[in-house]
Amino acid sequence: SAKPDPILVVDHLTKSFGGLRAVRVDHLEVQRGTITALIGPNGAGKSTFFNQVSGFDRPDSGGWTFEGHPLAGKPAYQIARMGMVRTFQLTKALMRLTALENLMLGATGQSGERFLPAIVRSWRSQEKDVQRRAEELLDRFNLTRMRDEFAGSMSGGQRKLLEMARALMVHPTMIMLDEPMSGVNPALTQSLLGHIQALRDDGMTIILVEHDMDVVMGISDWVVCFAEGEVIAEGRPRDIQSTQAVIDAYLGS
Ligand code: ADP
Ligand code: MG
Repeated sequence: SAKPDPILVVDHLTKSFGGLRAVRVDHLEVQRGTITALIGPNGAGKSTFFNQVSGFDRPDSGGWTFEGHPLAGKPAYQIARMGMVRTFQLTKALMRLTALENLMLGATGQSGERFLPAIVRSWRSQEKDVQRRAEELLDRFNLTRMRDEFAGSMSGGQRKLLEMARALMVHPTMIMLDEPMSGVNPALTQSLLGHIQALRDDGMTIILVEHDMDVVMGISDWVVCFAEGEVIAEGRPRDIQSTQAVIDAYLGS
């Protein structure tokens, strides 16, 4: 097996909401160039973990490094510019932007709420390289014909593609996908999976929260199972399937 080369290292990360300990990760590493799947029952803390690590929320304690750089205390847009981005669902405000505008806003690494469409429009004339990147990504994800359509008028599956494309605007080295296939029809699911594998084959590191075990087994290089905020098991897909703690976590929920 390959020599370990962790791109992300997390230590003693905790986050509580009121009395509820949502995340308590003692140690977790994500190896460069892999697809790592996070699995676990609803409420296990997977999304909360994503929010802390990507800088969208602050943990109560703990540290983590990306490419060796400590990230605690850094805001999401800075972390994104360092090369680690998470996708998030398009908000109401973003639905009123076109596909192209959404991608150009993605280039800032911002979640978008603080920006107005007018700002984006003024960029359109200035930021030719950003626009070129956006158009390349629209092409890559077969969204070119949606370029000037509002995100709100796109299908659920097209929005998922747009969310992924948006995250890629900052040229990330690692991308965090929280249930990228949810609500997507089976045909587009295959296409999304193909895109995710192509990104990995291009050398990108991917962390993916996914419920469908067939998808997880088919696509991931490494699987990490969360339950009640903690990592209860991790391993290669074919090994993790038969791990008793994983079976218990799913059957017990
Ligand atoms: P998962 O993504 O694995 O389904 P979450 O990370 O969304 O789990 O949630 C973990 C736990 O934290 C759940 O019990 C959830 O209700 C709680 N939780 C998540 N976000 C918040 C929040 N903003 N305020 C209060 N509780 C939250
Ligand atoms: Mg979740």
